[in-house]
Amino acid sequence: MRTVDSIRRIYIDRSLAEGAVVQTVLTRAPSHVQIEWIDDPRAILQDYQESGALVEKEDLLLYRFPGRFLSGCPGSDGMVCCQYFVINLGVGCLFDCHYCYLQSFLNNPLMTVFGNLEDLFSELDERTRNKNFQFRIGTGEYTDSLALEPLTGLSAHLIEYFAGHQNATLELKTKSENVDSLLSLDHRGHTVLAWSINPPALIETVEPGTASLEERLGAAARAERAGYRLAFHLDPLIYFEGWEPAYHRLIEQVFDYVRPDSVAWISTGSFRYSGPLKEVIQTRFPEDRLTRQELVAGPDGKHRYFRSIRAEMFRSIKGKIESVDPRLFLYLCMETQKMWSSVFGFVPGSGKNLDALFEKRRLQMESLSAGPTRL
Ligand code: SF4
Repeated sequence: MRTVDSIRRIYIDRSLAEGAVVQTVLTRAPSHVQIEWIDDPRAILQDYQESGALVEKEDLLLYRFPGRFLSGCPGSDGMVCCQYFVINLGVGCLFDCHYCYLQSFLNNPLMTVFGNLEDLFSELDERTRNKNFQFRIGTGEYTDSLALEPLTGLSAHLIEYFAGHQNATLELKTKSENVDSLLSLDHRGHTVLAWSINPPALIETVEPGTASLEERLGAAARAERAGYRLAFHLDPLIYFEGWEPAYHRLIEQVFDYVRPDSVAWISTGSFRYSGPLKEVIQTRFPEDRLTRQELVAGPDGKHRYFRSIRAEMFRSIKGKIESVDPRLFLYLCMETQKMWSSVFGFVPGSGKNLDALFEKRRLQMESLSAGPTRL
């Protein structure tokens, strides 16, 4: 797995020098890392934008984010939405998945972390306190939630913050094995540690730099022992010859490591790309076959496998998961109402209805065990 040891240079906003995140970074940065103090992050960002590089994974920028941290998940036009909220605490990633949408989504090639945690926490207080709603909030939308954790310690602060919030669940989504610094934290059941997974052969070919499946599942097992609720994302689901036994084996492997009762949710979504991303994938990974298959544009303009192929794959995944434990909660990410209907036999009438299914599973887990959900 690619680690923070691969970072060569860190630019740090001088105004954050006394902050907890910067102090942690200064303590933990490997000795070879060059630290550069900066007064104006815009100048650095402009330099990297003008360099023409699409991604820069050896340099990191740490600065004070001036905007709003919390937003609704961008979702996709015409797709069923699950009312998820996103904390934007940084952009870019240490890993290099061929299909990563950030390659065409960001105009900043530099890995970037926002260090003004106190501003984030006051915004979260204002947006979530005294609201009659169970928030699910994740940090894994514009970066991997835990890839940089051994350097920044950011997620540890978030876990401690969310431990005090009865009406919010934090989801940290990763393809790393970086959980060890989180295991002793008093999370009180308010954090779900989640792994995006694919069969080992795909991890090797299209997810360079990420942890192996065994490493991810080993980390999940350690998190389970520390009382965390878990989640898994079979996303992107990739169609290839032999996909069915490979994905069925993947599901079996998950439950060789962890108990179904510890799993809060499982999602799946098919491989998809927008037009600009296709070009980037073909330029950066000329041997890649992902975008050489026949895919069709959906109502949101993204290309996906034919509906019949997606439905077959989703039904097969659903059947396999139900054979492990019919109480496991599976949902589709960025799929149409028609697809929901053909896979599950119903369509969540609104994001709120889907949200009720998350809440049902949360309450079910509470009643299943006094362990994972210490609310
Ligand atoms: S782990 Fe996620 S954010 Fe990082 S490169 Fe892969 S898809 Fe992108």
